[in-house]
Amino acid sequence: MNVISRRHFLKLAGASTALVAAVPTMLRAQSATPKGRVVVVGGGFGGATVAKYLRLWGGNSAAVTLVDANPNHVSCILSNMVLDGSLNLSQITFNYAKLQQKYGITFVQGKATGIDSANRVLKLSSGKTLPYEHLVLAPGIDFKPIDGLDFSKIPHAWQAGPQTTLLKQQLQQLVAGTVTGDFVITVPPSPFRCPIGPYERACLVADYLKRNGKSGSKVVVLDANASIVAEVVTFTKAFNQTFAGIIDYRPSEQVLSVDSNRRIITTNKGEFPAGVLNVIPAHQAGAIVRNAGLVDLTAANWGAPVNPLNYESTLLPNSGIHIIGDSQGTAMSKGGHVANGEAKVCADAILRALDGGAPDPVPTVGAACFNPVTANTGSWLSTLFVYDPATKTMVKAVPPGTVEAPVANKDNFEKIFEWSANLFADTFA
Ligand SMILES: Cc1cc2nc3c(=O)[nH]c(=O)nc-3n(C[C@H](O)[C@H](O)[C@H](O)COP(=O)(O)OP(=O)(O)OC[C@H]3O[C@@H](n4cnc5c(N)ncnc54)[C@H](O)[C@@H]3O)c2cc1C
Repeated sequence: MNVISRRHFLKLAGASTALVAAVPTMLRAQSATPKGRVVVVGGGFGGATVAKYLRLWGGNSAAVTLVDANPNHVSCILSNMVLDGSLNLSQITFNYAKLQQKYGITFVQGKATGIDSANRVLKLSSGKTLPYEHLVLAPGIDFKPIDGLDFSKIPHAWQAGPQTTLLKQQLQQLVAGTVTGDFVITVPPSPFRCPIGPYERACLVADYLKRNGKSGSKVVVLDANASIVAEVVTFTKAFNQTFAGIIDYRPSEQVLSVDSNRRIITTNKGEFPAGVLNVIPAHQAGAIVRNAGLVDLTAANWGAPVNPLNYESTLLPNSGIHIIGDSQGTAMSKGGHVANGEAKVCADAILRALDGGAPDPVPTVGAACFNPVTANTGSWLSTLFVYDPATKTMVKAVPPGTVEAPVANKDNFEKIFEWSANLFADTFA
């Protein structure tokens, strides 16, 4: 990222905070004492937003406790730009101080390990227990195991933080032009977190190789899916034209095993030696969701089935347990912007329930993002999901359904920082 853009980003982050503070805070009749306790597990894009909006919209109606295993949340959004040195991790790391100070949310750093759903109590690894009337689970994703895969040697960098740093170091150390000079990345089977993310990463790495005299190396994309999953126009053009001869895209590659010491991956189609091996395994719902029996392990969709009117589990109805973000199992795409939208629908439904009311019968959730393709050009994608009463599911609005940028350009690149600064502020500030 050039200096002007970075300054622009930081300025926008500040401006967006002011924008959010201007949102009317009291949309409901206020209650002097809480009508219910809401415990939220996971302080990422889903969990931090639902905690904030419960208080922003509900005031004292709900006593809100937010639980996260870590003191800070490192955003996956923009983390691909850390790999090529455009951004630092500190620029996409958020703490929970503002949520505590501005909205009166109680933050507990700890790992949630179990749920006593009969008595409505959340258990933490510390031995502490948190009683609730409503429990919102937003733990993001876990990965399905792959034979031989050791993340301390073969980073996924699909949960941002130390894994991002490790992958960046490996990329910097890559020696171009050798037999094992390729960057090999896998794309997991759909559905997966951020459908554009692996393709965006492939492009940014290819661009980095081009700009850093490592043009003897290729980026090999081993896609478990039959074709590019998202922003098909943009990434087809990027792979075939912008990075022709650098990106080698291979569809329908099923990962069988990994030799983590030798950096060799075996798929249904053969063996691929790598200089840097970036395996992003198939996903599953977070452990706290799976272990509570909120997922149908035999279903093709690994997310927890929920009622999209309030995100309550349909496997444990009337339990007060809601699942949002990547771990929920609607057909909506798995993104931070979508998680933020689901969180608002969920917060509104919980506040209505505390007042004895029914949820909004026709919620909508938007999914939009601006993403880099090179170090100075970007693209965008936008989808509107609406509730369909006939099927009781979220479906794409027709029109507009999904729309993507006709062309990657500099203007879209600059908007990445405007869009993300607004989302970051709306979630964490
Ligand atoms: C490289 C990359 C780029 C991306 N780019 C975009 C983009 O441009 N636009 C977009 O919309 N989305 C993007 N995404 C997707 C987005 O990051 C995720 O969809 C989003 O973070 C999901 O939000 P979530 O709340 O479900 O989970 P997360 O944001 O991952 O938050 C989960 C939180 O739960 C905590 N946690 C988990 N289990 C426990 C437990 N048992 N106890 C306590 N805490 C727990 C974790 O510490 C974590 O803080 C990208 C993802 C990647 C990997």
